[in-house]
Amino acid sequence: MIRCNAWALRSQIEDLCTNAKWKGMEGHGPIADCVHQQLQFFRVNMAASMASQAISKGLRAATSKHLFLDKFKCTRLSPRRWLNLQEYQSKKLMQESGVAVQRFYVADTASEALEAAKRLNAKEIVLKAQILAGGRGKGVFDSGLKGGVHLTKDPAVVGELANKMLGFNLTTKQTPKDGVKVKTVMVAEALDISRETYFAILMDRSCNGPVMVGSPQGGMDIEEVAASTPELIFKEVIDIFEGVQEDQALRMAANLGFKGTLQRQAADQIKRLYDLFLKVDATQVEVNPLGETPEGQVVCFDAKINFDDNAEFRQKAVFAMDDMTESDPTETEAAKWDLKYIGLDGNIACFVNGAGLAMATCDIIDLHGGKPANFLDLGGGVKEKQVYEAFKLLTADPKVEAILVNIFGGIVNCAIIANGITKACRELELKVPLVVRLEGTNVQEAKRILSESGLPITSADNLDDAARKAVAAIKK
Ligand code: ADP
Ligand code: MG
Repeated sequence: MIRCNAWALRSQIEDLCTNAKWKGMEGHGPIADCVHQQLQFFRVNMAASMASQAISKGLRAATSKHLFLDKFKCTRLSPRRWLNLQEYQSKKLMQESGVAVQRFYVADTASEALEAAKRLNAKEIVLKAQILAGGRGKGVFDSGLKGGVHLTKDPAVVGELANKMLGFNLTTKQTPKDGVKVKTVMVAEALDISRETYFAILMDRSCNGPVMVGSPQGGMDIEEVAASTPELIFKEVIDIFEGVQEDQALRMAANLGFKGTLQRQAADQIKRLYDLFLKVDATQVEVNPLGETPEGQVVCFDAKINFDDNAEFRQKAVFAMDDMTESDPTETEAAKWDLKYIGLDGNIACFVNGAGLAMATCDIIDLHGGKPANFLDLGGGVKEKQVYEAFKLLTADPKVEAILVNIFGGIVNCAIIANGITKACRELELKVPLVVRLEGTNVQEAKRILSESGLPITSADNLDDAARKAVAAIKK
């Protein structure tokens, strides 16, 4: 059953990774692949915590949608992915790498936006809502305003439009159905665009390295182009040791439809984008549109950069830009304590170690007619403080009507868990029923700690027993 759900999860993640899919990446993109590989480990029971990491990464990587995990429905997903900056932040990095972007300012209020528009002193201005999702051009605000990207020649209009953007939710095909609140707008110089192309560099596991993907038909309907005219999507595999070769850059530029001097200019932009890709440890740099102006310039009009979380230690400046405002607060808080939290829709909190056990726990709760409220994965080297913080997170959720602790102590010492639990129960004055199943290292000592605590903790002999008791506790 664990396997079944693990694979169900994987296929859902794959489905959600349509972005990678349409780009024609074999293995359905780096995220699903990563999950897949980790799950292989997990199936032979070697590295459940690695699987957990992959799963939570995979989940975060997916755009915010409802995910169906087998029978129990609707995993709530936060829109958080691997570090994914706002367009204006990505464009700052691009500017530093000599990539052609338009002049811009950012604003948090309508009056700032108006000021910025005046200061810009441009022939035409573009106002762009900043959210971590694409499709803004065709999005809709709950203020009634249509379009997250607007062009105007009048700075006063920028102020009026910003008023209908800031503080309102923008819904696009990549956001949850209620949209995402806009807190910042970008006020940029607009340019006439005579042609919009698509260009991206991303990591592709099947090539063991970076790949360039481009299309002469870029712009807001790129997914449609990929579906109906896949022959208009071009790829170039990059040798990680050699970098982008001159002939490759020129070929890609030609495939994108840049002619004459524009071909060389585009090739130059491509090489600069690749330098940026390497410099910031990106997993993806996407420019849509990479446009051509009537004056003969090649300009990046939009930017989306994703970063490899594993590079955080050497990309401190980049990761410091992550403002977390679009992240699930519980997930962010959990991450602070090195806990992995995934919110679900039920009422039984699952406190477990390892993703495999987490999914098995969710399955068995489901089998007994209950619904998991979340799963919180404690991981390996647990400290008492983490157990306490984990309980604090779980009890802060008003949905939670019972807590099921299911720990298999391999690396984990059960006595540490037991001490953490009793401390948390006392200090947090736990109000909901608590069912605990501990197994493995130092379990006798752990059971003694729990039974001598005098706290109303229901202990369970095995997972089935634990789930049955947790579900029964709610029905009471
Ligand atoms: P999204 O991809 O979220 O819809 P974009 O930044 O790609 O947002 O903007 C949507 C469209 O708006 C672009 O395809 C382009 O036609 C137009 N646009 C964006 N920035 C500019 C600009 N600086 N000048 C002129 N047009 C722009
Ligand atoms: Mg775009």
